[in-house]
Amino acid sequence: MSLGALVPWWQQNRFFFATKTPRHKGSLSFIFIFEELIQHRCMSYLYYLWDDFISLLFPRLCYACGNHLLRNEDLICTQCFISIPRTNYHLTPDNPVAQLFWGRCQICKAAAFSFYNKGSRIRKLIHNLKYKGIKEVGYELGRIYGLSLRNSGFLDDIDLIIPVPLHPSKQRKRGFNQSEYISKGLADASGLTLELKSLVRVVVSDTQTKRSRYERWMNVEGIFAVAETEKLKGKHILLVDDVITTGSTLEACTCELLKIEDIKVSVVALAVAVQ
Ligand SMILES: [Zn+2]
Repeated sequence: MSLGALVPWWQQNRFFFATKTPRHKGSLSFIFIFEELIQHRCMSYLYYLWDDFISLLFPRLCYACGNHLLRNEDLICTQCFISIPRTNYHLTPDNPVAQLFWGRCQICKAAAFSFYNKGSRIRKLIHNLKYKGIKEVGYELGRIYGLSLRNSGFLDDIDLIIPVPLHPSKQRKRGFNQSEYISKGLADASGLTLELKSLVRVVVSDTQTKRSRYERWMNVEGIFAVAETEKLKGKHILLVDDVITTGSTLEACTCELLKIEDIKVSVVALAVAVQ
């Protein structure tokens, strides 16, 4: 019998084999389980072959280092994931990010996932998110950070997550708000509600990168507005940004939110620039 004919032959006769072995009552299920195992193994093997073929045509690369991803890796390779320089600031209340806002505005808690060093992996990941539109990277990093924050109790008294908004014209141009995707990951990991409409950016501000701290503050003052005050009354808000440099943007958002009655504000970001 040829190998090709073996499969239909087996399908026709498997009941015969199963029922003709009455001494072993469990034989029917045994044969089916055995068959299932073989089929599963064959399918897995075929799937892997297909997966390898597709990877050859469209290689899956790590968004941080550009190396090929292994089968069990997604977006970021294990090496890069381990090497992200985490701050663990969420474990220390008076950490350097919290200190950044001392004397500027009343922030309850502040933390950042990683240090933003030159040439660092997190920098490459955020670049891919912001300028190449790889939104999944923002979501995934937000989700990973969200799990750490949730497990440490950092999020215990938070009511709502609000991403730092972009001006509508900038969001149209970019197609999305990077902080929104980070926030989505955070919200999914923590089960907290994401609020996207209450805080809006009403003025387009220029790029912040080459300004002094004072100039940055002047550049962001009054650029945010609260659209739905009632929704935020008495709530503890977690503001989410991609990178904290001088903290002026988060400060401007917080100042606007603190005008609401009985509100509390905490802030987190994916990275904090090392000064
Ligand atoms: Zn990598």
